[in-house]
Amino acid sequence: MIGVAILGSTGSIGLSTLDVLARHPERFRVVALTANRNAEQLAEQCRRYRPAYAAMADPAAARVLQSLLAGMPDAPEVLSGVEGLEQVAALPDAHYVMAAIVGAAGLPPSLAAARAGKRVLLANKEALVMAGALFMDAVAASGAELLPIDSEHNAIFQCLPTGFHAGLAQVGVERILLTASGGPFRDWPVERLATVTPEQACAHPVWSMGRKISVDSATLMNKGLEVIEACWLFGTGPERITVVVHPQSTVHSLVQYKDGSVLAELGNPDMRTPIAHALAWPERFDSGVAPLDLVALGRLDFQAPDPGRFPCLRLAFESARAGGSAPLVLNAANEIAVAAFLDGRVSFPGIARVVEETLAASLEQSVVGQDLAGLVALDQRARATAEQLIAKQAV
Ligand code: NAD
Ligand code: MG
Repeated sequence: MIGVAILGSTGSIGLSTLDVLARHPERFRVVALTANRNAEQLAEQCRRYRPAYAAMADPAAARVLQSLLAGMPDAPEVLSGVEGLEQVAALPDAHYVMAAIVGAAGLPPSLAAARAGKRVLLANKEALVMAGALFMDAVAASGAELLPIDSEHNAIFQCLPTGFHAGLAQVGVERILLTASGGPFRDWPVERLATVTPEQACAHPVWSMGRKISVDSATLMNKGLEVIEACWLFGTGPERITVVVHPQSTVHSLVQYKDGSVLAELGNPDMRTPIAHALAWPERFDSGVAPLDLVALGRLDFQAPDPGRFPCLRLAFESARAGGSAPLVLNAANEIAVAAFLDGRVSFPGIARVVEETLAASLEQSVVGQDLAGLVALDQRARATAEQLIAKQAV
């Protein structure tokens, strides 16, 4: 039996992971589940999946969980805080770790899983954006298996030969084509973007996801973060990556080879496909996803992203080119700006302005080679800068 720990089991990716695992009970055992604050939901998951450990980031919520589980036979051991999450990620019985916490909070436990040499199923793209060098070094040093869950990166992984770690040029790859749905505002007049509400931004036309990544998909910051994620995963610079808007989200991404061949992975937009791929790899098994019906779909459209509409994509490319900790500052400012947008404190176009101004105000972007504590401190400073800009209504 393969033991699986799920970091962020109450989220969209966490729930899809549990759905896939439940289809293969003879193969997998859930050894740990984690959540931020929702003790009721985690308690329910513990009763159903019977893990040995349950961790909550919030210590008060962990106490509530403990009391909710009192009297349960073989109740899981309850852990809390960042240390609890890190401990769960490195458990000897957890052979596979699904890293599906949203945002910078996912970095410490995802890194702990990489350091412990696990098969890391990485959904938490922010970990690579913030700490790509540290993370990839940990993977190399421990011999961890890093499998991308982000649908685009999982598609690229499937379209690359196994020897791609030697360098993309060595295996004949010319470009990576990263597809983007374009989000809900792809065709809106740009002037109307100032009126966008959180509900409109979170109603993604194709994918059903958590609120933060839904807003990122609407600004295309999600695609920008994914460009940076792809650079680390596939050992390339941003100049080899082209973003293509593809509203149907059926082609999950493509790899263009020197000889003119372009390989793509297609499927229905359902995260259970990349999750099942990474759980079964190098084999294949059932994910519960309906087969793709190309005839019913009828057409696949592609267009270039509109830079005026999506300044976040430009900012992400600039940060990727600048390197150092620019991507970390970009990510921190974006997390603050998205939270402020969801709270009604910043307009939708204001998100890009917060990010741009925070990047301009941060003098520490060239710092590289940080340890985790150093990166977390930089992240905190960038967040404080973004908060100040919002408080002063400077954006
Ligand atoms: P979500 O908001 O639905 O769930 C997030 C999970 O993280 C929850 O279990 C929550 O309890 C936990 N969490 C939140 N804040 C935390 C904190 N401070 N400390 C510890 N745990 C915390 O998010 P999601 O849509 O499932 O996305 C998860 C990650 O996967 C993100 O990094 C996202 O970019 C990535 N991703 C998601 C999708 C998707 O379809 N949802 C696709 C590709 C990549
Ligand atoms: Mg994606």
